[in-house]
Amino acid sequence: MHIRKNDEVIVINGDDRGKKGKVNRCIPRENRLVVGGVNMCKRHMKPRANIKQAGIIEMEAPIHVSKVMLICGKCHEPTRVGYRILDDRSKVRVCRECGEVID
Ligand SMILES: [Zn+2]
Repeated sequence: MHIRKNDEVIVINGDDRGKKGKVNRCIPRENRLVVGGVNMCKRHMKPRANIKQAGIIEMEAPIHVSKVMLICGKCHEPTRVGYRILDDRSKVRVCRECGEVID
């Protein structure tokens, strides 16, 4: 996926449009991400020995990767992601707005 853990993203679609957050988790198999503070849902947790917090808790539900855009750490603009192959053949992500390497 073109977005990775700890990237900052902005939501461009759905109820949370315009919200920004940091990617906490990637689920490449489903093309989904868990973004901090985005797509909150309520869960009813029953008290069990291994669960510290019972009752109704709020947590982030995974959001589809197509609903977010990466925010470039250099120009701080939402951007599409390009790729560049370096001299040592490693592939890095680049910002299409300012051309800076993101990784
Ligand atoms: Zn940029």
